Amino acid sequence: KPMENRITDIGPQHFTEFLQPVIKKNFGKWLYHEILEAGVLKHVAESGDAVYTVRCGTARLMTVTHIREICDIADEWCGGYLRFTTRNNIEFMLEDEAKALELKKFLNGQKFSGGSIKFPVGGTGAGVTNIVHTQGWVHCHTPATDASGTVKATMDAVFDQFTDMKLPAPVRISMACCLNMCGAVHCSDIAILGIHRKPPIIDHKYLDNLCEIPLAVAACPTGAVRPSKVEIDGETYKTVAIKEERCMFCGNCYTMCPSLPLADKEGDGIALMVGGKVSNRITKPAFSKVVVPFIPNNPPRWPEMTDVITRILNAYSEGANKYERLGDWAARIGWERFFEVCDLEFTEHLIDDFRDPAYYTWRQTTQFKW
Ligand code: SF4
Ligand code: SF4
Repeated sequence: KPMENRITDIGPQHFTEFLQPVIKKNFGKWLYHEILEAGVLKHVAESGDAVYTVRCGTARLMTVTHIREICDIADEWCGGYLRFTTRNNIEFMLEDEAKALELKKFLNGQKFSGGSIKFPVGGTGAGVTNIVHTQGWVHCHTPATDASGTVKATMDAVFDQFTDMKLPAPVRISMACCLNMCGAVHCSDIAILGIHRKPPIIDHKYLDNLCEIPLAVAACPTGAVRPSKVEIDGETYKTVAIKEERCMFCGNCYTMCPSLPLADKEGDGIALMVGGKVSNRITKPAFSKVVVPFIPNNPPRWPEMTDVITRILNAYSEGANKYERLGDWAARIGWERFFEVCDLEFTEHLIDDFRDPAYYTWRQTTQFKW
């Protein structure tokens, strides 16, 4: 139905039409929230009204049948109100505490035919919540690894930390399948990043028919692409040349030009980063740092990757003080000690910033602990 003050009648209905009634009534007037138990939140408004939220983890790619099942649960338990969070959790919102706790039990009791929990409740407080991630092999054109597969393998490995709140502080894990980084890997406690290690392969014969050459040239952030001509079987083709030593394997040129694919079985894999955060609680927000430069793709379960993530999480869990985020813990004990306790190979390239060492690097500051 048309909304007042809307300029057009296209697009989705206004979001306020979908708000849970108590949330709508107290919009913008919330006082505080608390976590009653893992996966159950209580939000209290200035008016004294309260809303209880039950959060459960899901896959990001779902069948229609699965979505219908989720909607049926919302219809039965909470007047049809639910929302999807940016981290691919589902939140059911209720007005009654006892019913919310009952819903948690119900959701944890729903199983897939193989026996695993279909709607695990958790993802709150000092634990791991669901992973914000990108498209991966299923959809995007430049991935160096898969998103859904790596995320599923990781969440299976850290499942207990999702359903419990026993870590020192929240741990945010993110996943981006190339360094264009549609996920928040630059500022997460643990980040999984797909990386290419080889320059694009040029399909000279078709390039001029498939691409605008000036666009492909302009797309390269390092100026590695230039117009060129090649001779194949006596025919001259208008194409591009790539200065390989300048290429940082970002895939931007491939986004503009389908004749410049850079996916490669040996070249593609995963880098792991840690220590980023957006919160300014206790310490300032921080960027993630590379701690493992390359792990080869090993689908469908990426065991080498989940092994490292589990090691990092266990060492953090044992060594960090309460409320200390992963990066704060590593900075306190010293980054080289971090590599030791996580049993990771250390090189100075992994923690220095990218600036010229002749000027200033983090390693040369008084904050650096050997
Ligand atoms: Fe595509 Fe890269 Fe985004 Fe993944 S991170 S969805 S490959 S642009
Ligand atoms: Fe340039 Fe990136 Fe293409 Fe390399 S992959 S040539 S850096 S746009």
